[in-house]
Amino acid sequence: MAQRIQGTEDLFGGYMRAWQHMQDVARELFGAYGFDMIETPAIEQVDTFVHGIGESTDVVRKEMFRVVSGALFQNLLEAGSEQGLKAKQRMAMRPEGTAGVVRAAVEHNFVPQGAAPAKLWYAEAMFRGERPQKGRLRQFHQVGVEWLGAPDAAADAECIIMLMEFYKRLGFDPAKLRLSINSMGDAACRPAYREKVRAFILDHADEMCEDCLERAEINPLRSFDCKNDHCREVMAAAPLATDNLCDECAEHYAKVKQYLDAAGVAYVEDPTLVRGLDYYTRTVFEVEALEGGVGAIGGGGRFDGLMELEGGKPTPGIGFAVGFERIALALAAQGGTLETPEPTCVYVACAGSEQRDAVFSATLALREAGIRTEADYQGRSLKSQFKQADKLGARLCVVLGSDEVAAGVATLRDMETHEQVQVPIAELAREVSARIG
Ligand code: AMP
Repeated sequence: MAQRIQGTEDLFGGYMRAWQHMQDVARELFGAYGFDMIETPAIEQVDTFVHGIGESTDVVRKEMFRVVSGALFQNLLEAGSEQGLKAKQRMAMRPEGTAGVVRAAVEHNFVPQGAAPAKLWYAEAMFRGERPQKGRLRQFHQVGVEWLGAPDAAADAECIIMLMEFYKRLGFDPAKLRLSINSMGDAACRPAYREKVRAFILDHADEMCEDCLERAEINPLRSFDCKNDHCREVMAAAPLATDNLCDECAEHYAKVKQYLDAAGVAYVEDPTLVRGLDYYTRTVFEVEALEGGVGAIGGGGRFDGLMELEGGKPTPGIGFAVGFERIALALAAQGGTLETPEPTCVYVACAGSEQRDAVFSATLALREAGIRTEADYQGRSLKSQFKQADKLGARLCVVLGSDEVAAGVATLRDMETHEQVQVPIAELAREVSARIG
């Protein structure tokens, strides 16, 4: 039997409705903040991710699924390396949403000089070649936003406020979430800070893991979230980003906090929060659910240099992404759910084959009126049609027997009270609507 790939899931039934509900909540809330939806391709040139996310990140080095066509695959096998490939032949599944959206913004010039910022949101599958475990999948779903062209600290604060409101509307108790924030500095102050951290790691080389020693050279800040507990203990004494901000970054960060305070959003400052991707500048943030043990359920930050890295004009940006599967797990741990009730329907029961045409017309009329309608297509007995209607969660059954059809009426049976009334067939849709609300 064919099986799905480990770390991937089929979304159906209640779980599918949960994903749709999350998108509905996003559409309404993000819409109120002026965001429009975008969908970028699931495959992009490898360079799109390398430029943005960074050559040295785990996401690019180890977790990105590379894509080759069958023909190209043969060539690669024969050549033994991808060296001869053109940039456009080097493709990957998107491991995150920001790089693709920024690539699209550059390609379509979403933020021309002097124009208003572009505000975009997406709901898409992401792909990462990770070792599957609870809350860590190879194909997972994110809702995310990107706000391009807004340098003001108010944009950072509004993004975070909107994110926290999103969790609330999804059913989270805000008291059971932890929002951590930090500022990572910018092109003016980060290089010197990075150098300090590199020197610190090298000073403690005998206490750090191999990975961290490698990180010291390619991206020392990432040692703050090394998976090795001992490395993190050592890093607790490392120089902190917030002590090394230039005046502009310090002022920006202070302003973000001031806005969050004014909006009454609770946060903790975590000067070791660096986030995994290279493109972040200044504000970064992450949200953790305190119950459920699934780790971060969302995060984001400012990426003022990313548009340039993707070949565009200097344009500031800020955004976040929220993982659907982890939200579902974390919410369940709080006793909540993203699932919406199964939709109710109306079932049109057919007493015998002579009434089949009447059932056909009645079913069409009900659907035309926007009523979710089911009928029998297997020639079952009336009794088993009622059973079927119950299974489908029908609130009402429309029964069409020979007497009814002859008299131009239909019997409406309330599936809960078993009460029955007769209504003219011409009035069927109106009567049903009135009864099911
Ligand atoms: P990141 O871009 O890694 O910060 O991811 C943003 C959010 O996506 C995280 O906070 C998680 O909720 C979710 N996420 C990231 N990686 C995975 C994964 N492998 N499986 C499921 N959810 C994930």
